[in-house]
Amino acid sequence: MKINDIIAVLESVAPPHLQESYDNAGLIVGHPETEVSGVLFCLDSTEAIVEEAIARGCNLVVAHHPIIFRGLKRLNGATYIERTVMQAIRHNVAIYAIHTNLDNVYRQGVNSKIAGKIGLADTRILAPRPEDFEIGAGLLGNLHKPMEETEFLQHIKTTLNTQCVRHTALRGKTVRKVAVCGGAGSFLLSEALRARADAFVTADFKYHEFFDAEGKLIIADVGHFESEQFTNELLRDIVQEKFPTFALHLTNLNTNPVLYF
Ligand SMILES: [Zn+2]
Repeated sequence: MKINDIIAVLESVAPPHLQESYDNAGLIVGHPETEVSGVLFCLDSTEAIVEEAIARGCNLVVAHHPIIFRGLKRLNGATYIERTVMQAIRHNVAIYAIHTNLDNVYRQGVNSKIAGKIGLADTRILAPRPEDFEIGAGLLGNLHKPMEETEFLQHIKTTLNTQCVRHTALRGKTVRKVAVCGGAGSFLLSEALRARADAFVTADFKYHEFFDAEGKLIIADVGHFESEQFTNELLRDIVQEKFPTFALHLTNLNTNPVLYF
């Protein structure tokens, strides 16, 4: 099994051309023809993740977030990005990222995974691309049965395994229609409002952006890591479906840089 074989399976679900123009998804470190000893799946490929890969005999890290996003002008170990890349090269560990291309697909995408955790039915892409309604940003769906607002907040807190949900004022209405977007989703608020969602579950909302809910829905910011933490499982399952006996591992590390006191 070569790195290319693993990439082919992942990209059959989320082709690289579906990534956003600012993104840097793809094989970031390593050679595609390298024989794979094992794969480690994670959200963020950090130094600790590369260490874990080495310890567990994996020479391929598959991450959601690209470790290199902007250009690197030098590699002298001054930043965690440089150190991660240097460590990976030194130990022949390849790093592959599948980012906004995985956000933008309906089937087996980041948001379908979140919708599955929350328990949404009748789902569709929230902001589909004009050429294909199964490609685009966010997801919209219905809870199997309506919930009281506080019950809903507790529900997402439990199912998305988050310590803290930052949310806008409750409206005294039940929640049925829910929009979701893993990671930074404030750019989709207008779409969630247009779709008449009762709640928008996402992350990285800024103070002033919370005002834009205008009492028309509940913004529920569950945290960036928390919203996307099941992406590891999603990626592992995609590869496992094709190669059921290959050495595929979920990271044991929590790479969330945000802690709550
Ligand atoms: Zn993200």
